[in-house]
Amino acid sequence: MPSALIDVAGVQVSPDHYIDGQRIASATTFELFSPIDQQVLGHIAEGEAEHVEAAIVAAERAFTSWSALSAAQRKVYLDRFSEEIGKRADAFCLLESTDAGVLLSRMRHGVINRAKLNISWFAEHALTLQDRCLETEQATHHIRHDPAGVAVIITPWNSPLMLATWKLGPALAAGNTCIVKPPEWAPLTSSLLADAAHAAGLPAGVLNIVQGTGAKTGSKLVSDPRIARISFTGSVPTAKVIAGAAAANLVPCSLELGGKSAFIVLEDADLDNAAATAALMYRNAGQVCLAGTRLLVHERVAERFVAAMRGYVENLVVGDPRDPATEVGPVIHPRQVERIQGFIERAVSSGAQVLWGGDKHSYGAQYLQPTLIGNVEQADEIVQNEVFGPVLTLQTFSNDAQAVAMANGTDFGLGGVCYGETVHATAVAQQVRTGFIWVNSFGIRDLAAPFGGIKRSGIGREGGDWSFEFFCDVKDVVVPQKPFRASFSQR
Ligand code: NAD
Repeated sequence: MPSALIDVAGVQVSPDHYIDGQRIASATTFELFSPIDQQVLGHIAEGEAEHVEAAIVAAERAFTSWSALSAAQRKVYLDRFSEEIGKRADAFCLLESTDAGVLLSRMRHGVINRAKLNISWFAEHALTLQDRCLETEQATHHIRHDPAGVAVIITPWNSPLMLATWKLGPALAAGNTCIVKPPEWAPLTSSLLADAAHAAGLPAGVLNIVQGTGAKTGSKLVSDPRIARISFTGSVPTAKVIAGAAAANLVPCSLELGGKSAFIVLEDADLDNAAATAALMYRNAGQVCLAGTRLLVHERVAERFVAAMRGYVENLVVGDPRDPATEVGPVIHPRQVERIQGFIERAVSSGAQVLWGGDKHSYGAQYLQPTLIGNVEQADEIVQNEVFGPVLTLQTFSNDAQAVAMANGTDFGLGGVCYGETVHATAVAQQVRTGFIWVNSFGIRDLAAPFGGIKRSGIGREGGDWSFEFFCDVKDVVVPQKPFRASFSQR
């Protein structure tokens, strides 16, 4: 018997799993709170061994027929899936704003369209994955991209809708079947995705959603030998555990992890523009993997840059993410608030200086002031570790080489930002060791472009052909040009 729908911000959403085309309740549930005001939003089904088993069996069974469809046939389903997401746009936006604390304006003006596109764009792009032929003197090589099998998709709480669809789009378009394990702190938009898939007529078992904690539910999924791919976005410590489980079964995994990206401001930068962009790093209360959280500013312009940035930061509106005026919303969980405050306190006790913010915001228990910490050294904990909150650090440099060394001086290598005269900034950006870096800009993304990190920020790339390389097995079917006759002298 499916559970009653729960009402969240006026949206009716199921707290159950979605397995083999049906809503499945669980005897065990976990409580879900809103980061906005700590209200209980509902009791969400927790994935037990039986649910994990049922999802894997359903996905394996569905794989036979889903993988046998052509890319064009799958596109018909996926285009409908994308449309069904669009029909529920308001509901998706309200849910993610309420359970993850993402700005409603950002959901409405960016994320929801991207979620739709993540499904339809990859469905279209899959059409380009036709067999390629390599003709040689000896043979014709028919090079195919075969779907890998059952893919497990594990997402974090800071952008669950965008990230689930970003992985589901290519995985499904390539012919895999999927099991999504949404984040336990923000599972609701993934549940609504199941409604959209169901309404689109996606065959039972092609998309399954099993909710629950990582330790209990996620760990069972990633350690099952029937899984063909694991696509994970989340933190470095979790990635190490997942990579270990994947290694035990020799299963390829894609890991999109944390960052500690540099935001470099060269002496010849447009300081006002750079300062306006730097203030954007507080968006989503700084809970953004690709934010440039380490401000590295040329010493001759540091004072002017900080003054310009202060002007922007002072005007930031902290508050309820559903209010269109709000620019900085809540931190996801009391545990994260404590963790972030711990970073600030330890930095200050070892001599760092709070240039602004540093405390809780009066708006509510899970709101923090946008914070800038100066007087830090490269080896300091707050410079080296991902805080994942509205906290930036400030360091100065006197030449490009020093800026590059500081930018490269952490274990992370996700993204970066470099402001300066374009040729100069591009030259500096090229020396920063990351998966991507924006010159005089921030956040420009394209589905065809590669996305991912190096060093501790991840393994693999997502986007365009890179997503398909991951979710497919490349196979070479070799047909000889001339009749072949076996011989022991053949090389
Ligand atoms: P997390 O690693 O704690 O959890 C991520 C997901 O993994 C959750 O769904 C969780 O339930 C699951 N999980 C936890 N333990 C597991 C296990 N043993 N087996 C299987 N699944 C398990 O991360 P988080 O706190 O939810 O998210 C924040 C982190 O995500 C930050 O480090 C951030 O930088 C990173 N992130 C990276 C990107 C990127 O694209 N590089 C994007 C967004 C967030």
